[in-house]
Amino acid sequence: MKKATKTVYECEFCGKLSYNAGGMHNHEKRCKKNPVNIPMCWDCKHYYFWPEEIVVPYDHVIYGMSCEAIMKVKSRKCLKTGLNMFSILTSERKIADLEGVGLVMMPCVAYGCEHYEKAISDAQVLAMEPF
Ligand SMILES: [Zn+2]
Repeated sequence: MKKATKTVYECEFCGKLSYNAGGMHNHEKRCKKNPVNIPMCWDCKHYYFWPEEIVVPYDHVIYGMSCEAIMKVKSRKCLKTGLNMFSILTSERKIADLEGVGLVMMPCVAYGCEHYEKAISDAQVLAMEPF
Protein backbone atom coordinates (compact mmCIF):
# COMPACT_ATOMS: atom_id res chain seq x y z
CA MET A 1 0.00 0.00 0.00
CA LYS A 2 1.23 3.47 -0.88
CA LYS A 3 0.45 6.50 1.17
CA ALA A 4 0.19 9.81 -0.68
CA THR A 5 -0.33 13.39 0.36
CA LYS A 6 -1.82 15.62 -2.31
CA THR A 7 -3.08 19.15 -2.47
CA VAL A 8 -6.85 19.22 -2.90
CA TYR A 9 -8.65 22.31 -4.15
CA GLU A 10 -12.18 22.98 -2.92
CA CYS A 11 -14.75 25.20 -4.60
CA GLU A 12 -15.53 27.96 -2.13
CA PHE A 13 -19.13 28.08 -3.35
CA CYS A 14 -20.31 24.46 -3.63
CA GLY A 15 -17.59 22.41 -1.94
CA LYS A 16 -16.60 20.38 -5.01
CA LEU A 17 -13.09 18.93 -4.72
CA SER A 18 -10.37 18.64 -7.36
CA TYR A 19 -6.65 17.87 -7.52
CA ASN A 20 -6.31 20.33 -10.41
CA ALA A 21 -5.96 24.04 -9.47
CA GLY A 22 -6.63 25.26 -13.01
CA GLY A 23 -9.68 23.05 -13.33
CA MET A 24 -11.02 24.29 -10.00
CA HIS A 25 -10.40 27.92 -11.03
CA ASN A 26 -12.46 27.31 -14.18
CA HIS A 27 -15.12 25.51 -12.16
CA GLU A 28 -15.49 28.41 -9.70
CA LYS A 29 -15.93 30.86 -12.58
CA ARG A 30 -18.87 28.78 -13.86
CA CYS A 31 -20.12 27.29 -10.55
CA LYS A 32 -23.91 27.57 -10.28
CA LYS A 33 -23.57 28.48 -6.59
CA ASN A 34 -21.18 31.38 -7.26
CA PRO A 35 -23.22 34.59 -6.62
CA VAL A 36 -22.06 36.09 -9.93
CA ASN A 37 -23.72 33.10 -11.67
CA ILE A 38 -27.06 33.25 -9.84
CA PRO A 39 -29.60 35.47 -11.62
CA MET A 40 -31.65 37.91 -9.55
CA CYS A 41 -34.49 37.21 -11.95
CA TRP A 42 -35.51 33.71 -10.87
CA ASP A 43 -37.73 34.85 -8.02
CA CYS A 44 -38.44 38.36 -9.31
CA LYS A 45 -42.02 39.21 -10.23
CA HIS A 46 -40.90 41.00 -13.41
CA TYR A 47 -39.21 37.96 -14.93
CA TYR A 48 -40.91 35.74 -17.50
CA PHE A 49 -39.53 32.88 -19.51
CA TRP A 50 -41.09 33.94 -22.77
CA PRO A 51 -42.39 31.11 -25.02
CA GLU A 52 -40.49 32.19 -28.10
CA GLU A 53 -37.00 31.92 -29.49
CA ILE A 54 -34.86 34.80 -30.65
CA VAL A 55 -32.84 34.29 -33.81
CA VAL A 56 -29.34 35.71 -33.55
CA PRO A 57 -27.04 35.88 -36.60
CA TYR A 58 -23.33 35.27 -36.05
CA ASP A 59 -20.15 34.46 -37.94
CA HIS A 60 -19.36 30.79 -37.63
CA VAL A 61 -15.75 29.84 -38.31
CA ILE A 62 -15.17 26.32 -39.53
CA TYR A 63 -11.84 25.03 -40.87
CA GLY A 64 -10.59 28.62 -40.89
CA MET A 65 -13.43 29.86 -43.09
CA SER A 66 -16.11 32.22 -41.86
CA CYS A 67 -19.72 31.75 -42.79
CA GLU A 68 -22.97 33.33 -41.70
CA ALA A 69 -25.00 31.27 -39.27
CA ILE A 70 -27.84 31.71 -36.82
CA MET A 71 -28.36 30.60 -33.26
CA LYS A 72 -31.70 30.42 -31.52
CA VAL A 73 -31.87 31.44 -27.87
CA LYS A 74 -34.74 31.10 -25.45
CA SER A 75 -36.24 34.44 -24.60
CA ARG A 76 -36.01 35.53 -21.00
CA LYS A 77 -37.82 38.77 -20.51
CA CYS A 78 -37.89 41.48 -17.86
CA LEU A 79 -41.39 42.96 -17.94
CA LYS A 80 -40.20 46.00 -15.95
CA THR A 81 -37.52 47.07 -18.45
CA GLY A 82 -38.97 45.33 -21.52
CA LEU A 83 -35.53 43.89 -22.24
CA ASN A 84 -34.81 40.42 -23.54
CA MET A 85 -32.06 38.83 -21.49
CA PHE A 86 -29.66 35.95 -21.86
CA SER A 87 -28.44 33.54 -19.22
CA ILE A 88 -25.50 34.44 -17.01
CA LEU A 89 -23.92 31.09 -17.89
CA THR A 90 -23.94 31.75 -21.63
CA SER A 91 -20.66 30.87 -23.32
CA GLU A 92 -18.31 33.89 -23.45
CA ARG A 93 -17.89 33.55 -27.23
CA LYS A 94 -21.64 34.14 -27.75
CA ILE A 95 -22.04 37.24 -25.57
CA ALA A 96 -21.01 39.87 -28.15
CA ASP A 97 -23.41 38.39 -30.73
CA LEU A 98 -26.30 38.38 -28.24
CA GLU A 99 -25.57 41.96 -27.15
CA GLY A 100 -25.35 42.90 -30.82
CA VAL A 101 -29.07 42.20 -31.26
CA GLY A 102 -30.02 44.08 -28.10
CA LEU A 103 -30.10 41.32 -25.50
CA VAL A 104 -28.64 42.01 -22.06
CA MET A 105 -27.19 39.62 -19.52
CA MET A 106 -29.46 38.80 -16.60
CA PRO A 107 -28.47 40.67 -13.44
CA CYS A 108 -26.81 38.49 -10.80
CA VAL A 109 -27.16 38.14 -7.04
CA ALA A 110 -23.61 39.45 -6.48
CA TYR A 111 -24.34 42.85 -8.07
CA GLY A 112 -28.12 43.10 -7.60
CA CYS A 113 -30.81 44.71 -9.77
CA GLU A 114 -32.51 48.06 -9.20
CA HIS A 115 -35.79 46.66 -10.60
CA TYR A 116 -35.90 43.48 -8.48
CA GLU A 117 -39.14 42.79 -6.61
CA LYS A 118 -39.69 39.43 -5.01
CA ALA A 119 -42.51 37.40 -6.58
CA ILE A 120 -45.38 37.22 -4.13
CA SER A 121 -47.36 34.19 -5.29
CA ASP A 122 -46.59 30.59 -6.19
CA ALA A 123 -48.19 31.19 -9.60
CA GLN A 124 -45.63 33.88 -10.34
CA VAL A 125 -42.78 31.62 -9.29
CA LEU A 126 -44.17 28.72 -11.38
CA ALA A 127 -44.15 30.95 -14.46
CA MET A 128 -40.43 31.30 -14.12
CA GLU A 129 -37.63 29.19 -15.42
CA PRO A 130 -36.82 26.18 -13.23
CA PHE A 131 -33.27 25.69 -11.97
ZN1 LIG B 1 -18.65 25.00 -7.19
